[in-house]
Amino acid sequence: MLRTCRMLCSQAGPSPGGWQPLSFDGGAFHLKGTGELTRALFVLRLCAWPPLVTHGLALQAWSRRLLGSRLSGALLRASIYGQFVAGETAEEVRGCVLQLQTLGLRPLLAVPIEEEPDSAVKMGEAWYEGNLSAMLRCVDLSRGLLETPDPMGNALMQLKMTALMSTRLCKELTSWVRRPGESLELSPERLAEAMDSGQDLQVSCLNTEQTRHLQASLSRLQRVVQHARAQRVRLLVDAEYTSLNPALSLLVAALATRWNSSREGGPWVWNTYQAYLKDTYERLRRDAEVADRAGLAFGVKLVRGAYLDKEREMAWLQGTEDPTQPDYEATTQSYSRCLELMLTQVSHRGPMCHLMVASHNEDSVRQATKRMWELGIPPDGPVCFGQLLGMCDHVSLALGQAGYAVYKSIPYGSLEEVIPYLIRRAQENRSVLRGARREQKLLSQELRRRLLGRGLRVSPH
Ligand SMILES: Cc1cc2nc3c(=O)[nH]c(=O)nc-3n(C[C@H](O)[C@H](O)[C@H](O)COP(=O)(O)OP(=O)(O)OC[C@H]3O[C@@H](n4cnc5c(N)ncnc54)[C@H](O)[C@@H]3O)c2cc1C
Repeated sequence: MLRTCRMLCSQAGPSPGGWQPLSFDGGAFHLKGTGELTRALFVLRLCAWPPLVTHGLALQAWSRRLLGSRLSGALLRASIYGQFVAGETAEEVRGCVLQLQTLGLRPLLAVPIEEEPDSAVKMGEAWYEGNLSAMLRCVDLSRGLLETPDPMGNALMQLKMTALMSTRLCKELTSWVRRPGESLELSPERLAEAMDSGQDLQVSCLNTEQTRHLQASLSRLQRVVQHARAQRVRLLVDAEYTSLNPALSLLVAALATRWNSSREGGPWVWNTYQAYLKDTYERLRRDAEVADRAGLAFGVKLVRGAYLDKEREMAWLQGTEDPTQPDYEATTQSYSRCLELMLTQVSHRGPMCHLMVASHNEDSVRQATKRMWELGIPPDGPVCFGQLLGMCDHVSLALGQAGYAVYKSIPYGSLEEVIPYLIRRAQENRSVLRGARREQKLLSQELRRRLLGRGLRVSPH
């Protein structure tokens, strides 16, 4: 299998003659085994069924009671868990990543951690320290998974900040940042200084307990970035809700002043920009300008945004303006503008500016590859692509085969840890799962072709 895939991958590569539109017609499925394709089709069909997503946690509990935890666990492993999760142990993750690498894809590990606002256990300092240990192990694992032992090679990893500090504190900081004229007390430089020196930070908007938690959180962030930098792993900080994002961006800006300087060879800390928010384009433009003026490297993961329904519901409940774009077309237009802005930045600033086009959308991916070619950005340079493990393989494989840098976002962990995380992600991404119809159609076509034995192709299994 390895030999077949390597041969097929090496035949591909960026065309020397000019930009060729990539074909996302499922042709690249020939790199996958029939068992994998059948599971993908089954699971994607299952996930497009709304009751399963809505009542996922209750159904899981019910199946455990009815079938016993071993049988119900085995069924999940053979289906949803097997499709979207790399495994539980480092060995299983390595096996999954090795298989991706033979297909020309790279790993973007994500530790699936969820804060539960009503859980006392999941909000104490010990819980955040435990999450820090998991993040540090993830850095080591990401480093160990690099295909080549090249000391200059860089790995990428996702970082969810609310795993290291409470959402309550983030909300407090957000409302402080939003107060006009009051944000100087919490400047990125001041926070960076506190992180570096470990000295106490006095912030007038926080009480003693909150100040202590902020101090501990800054120390955790500092430790994880320090370790990632030493291991040459770039950290991509996730964007979350608008009630938290200004605080998360402030912390990213603080980390950037220390870790994204040109002498560090960064960017080591990236931020995520959600195109479905009305103010994202302006924020991205301003942040890119600030980084350029300060001589800092700038790393961006560009997404459409995962929390649409909750954002709208919150705005409605609070009687505030909906922060999201009015419809899908407006989000797509915003994504396209942000993409154009970032690709222009990359073409001007070279390796001081990095971009992950994190989308399953074929038109966005096509726009990116076309503009990269027009702007002379190499396929395997500072611009890369990101998709979720188990989703849109027809896009990822086609990109990987054409020589682009493609990362699959990979959650890993035990069934107990990952299934609630997956179900919540599925609830947030209902429209994406429903939209996976094209992928289902391509999968059925390929399976039908194999079963009827038409047009014999090289199969790895
Ligand atoms: C590697 C990776 C990392 C990610 N990290 C994050 C992250 O840190 N934070 C985060 O929020 N998300 C993240 N996501 C998820 C991402 O934001 C999207 O939810 C997901 O990728 C679907 O968008 P798309 O471009 O792939 O697909 P598409 O199917 O083209 O777009 C679906 C998206 O369009 C938008 N949309 C749909 N309907 C409407 C409507 N009526 N009005 C306005 N907008 C609409 C929504 O954002 C929806 O998710 C990540 C995704 C990937 C692949």
